[in-house]
Amino acid sequence: MRNPFFSSMAEFAAGRDEGRFSIEEVTRYFLGRAREIDGTLHACLFLSDNAINRARQLDNRRQREGAPSPFYGFPVMIKDNLEIKGSPTTCASRILEGYRSLRTATAVRRLLAQGAVVLGKTNLDEFAMGSSTENSAFGPTKNPWDLRRVPGGSSGGSAAAVAAGIAPLALGSDTGGSIRQPAAFCGVIGVKPTYGRISRSGLVAFASSLDQIGPFATGAEDALECLVAMAGQDPLDMTTVARDPEEMRRDFDRTSLSGLRLGIPEALFGEGLDPEIRERIGEVRQRLVGAGAREEPVGLPHSASGINVYYVLATSEAASNLCRFDGVRYGRRTAKAGALREMYEETRDEGFGLEVKRRILLGTFALSAGYQEAFYKKARKVQAMIRRDFLEAFTRCDLLVTPTSPTPPFAFGEKTGDPLSMYLSDIYTITANLAGLPALSVPAGRDKNGLPVGVHLIGPPWSEGRLLKVAGEISRYYDPGLPPFHAMSAGAGGVR
Ligand code: GLN
Repeated sequence: MRNPFFSSMAEFAAGRDEGRFSIEEVTRYFLGRAREIDGTLHACLFLSDNAINRARQLDNRRQREGAPSPFYGFPVMIKDNLEIKGSPTTCASRILEGYRSLRTATAVRRLLAQGAVVLGKTNLDEFAMGSSTENSAFGPTKNPWDLRRVPGGSSGGSAAAVAAGIAPLALGSDTGGSIRQPAAFCGVIGVKPTYGRISRSGLVAFASSLDQIGPFATGAEDALECLVAMAGQDPLDMTTVARDPEEMRRDFDRTSLSGLRLGIPEALFGEGLDPEIRERIGEVRQRLVGAGAREEPVGLPHSASGINVYYVLATSEAASNLCRFDGVRYGRRTAKAGALREMYEETRDEGFGLEVKRRILLGTFALSAGYQEAFYKKARKVQAMIRRDFLEAFTRCDLLVTPTSPTPPFAFGEKTGDPLSMYLSDIYTITANLAGLPALSVPAGRDKNGLPVGVHLIGPPWSEGRLLKVAGEISRYYDPGLPPFHAMSAGAGGVR
């Protein structure tokens, strides 16, 4: 177990209802754990100052009325690009210095309504741009499996927090892989839902047509519970779709491995893939086949263009979304500046980090007159082809199996000098965003260095329940165990 109380939300709910522990006790434990180890890990940007109060109130209400949901009192960490009214939201950027949110993200509000206790906010690559958390203005998060390596990104703080037992559940956002790749690197489950499943209201926009919020958890059931709680139409996000969140639970219960058709895009298992990862995924495939599934080769001929398409579309959207950070409406303003225009320029120059600037430049270029046809519009066309490939594949299979990442967690600094090699980290995950499909990463054991390997499942729209059921089956064989940092942690880090 990653904590002394429970190993799943169901166990938590049982212990809570039987009075084996109070919500306050559990909350204090996790905050204490963060204070104990996060000086080393740096998964958190800050801890909540009213979590204990809230826990106490929830305990009192439970005494009188009982607990209405399994979520009641369950602790959760939130990626710091999701807003909570009255709290800072930094997006790990200097430009949001001093900003306090005026609203609470719908996804978070729905968890709070179920009784969740927010422990704090987690570290990320600035504005969720990156694959390692090295782009955080506040310094990177470390991988609890090997402190010399990155936890993945951009939601690296959330992934590391769950892996190291600072929280049993955390939220992230995924635009091109930012939930699934860090989940793979940290040995936990991470889910990117179907586009439109979960409201993006209160998520600071990176690329609005690709962004989705999703959970990090240690078990498939907990991830399912969290998705069901967050999902559903929201008047504050026009792209949310009116579908019953409970359909995920029904699909979860209904799915069985027997006769399940696994689509295998063989072309994605070739060059560039770490041989040990290939081997691990091969083993998972064999297990699933042993349990009654069958494999179906599929071609995704346009997926090879995924990275190119993504880095045109995502940067174009980012360039326009990030216009709002102008020194007037949010956070930091460079005081010494004189005229309005200089104030904008200097604020943005000082406030944004290198990668964010690179994205804004790339996106502005892709959208500029004369280049729009060649870049943005062409990318949209190829995106449509990528989507069509997937829908065609799903006429012949129920889900696709691929690696989550082509490599194991890499060392700090290994890719920072070469943006292209960093961008390639997301080669397997990016196409699910481009096609709006649900996808997840689930641990598939460890490599010879003891580093976690993730297997990636992609499904047709709205198939989260099915994917999670299969992930749960995979977890039964491949529990990655606890990171070594877990055992070492007593006295491992400075108190924050
Ligand atoms: N690593 C990708 C990028 O840098 C994806 C990030 C994300 O999903 N937010 O854009």
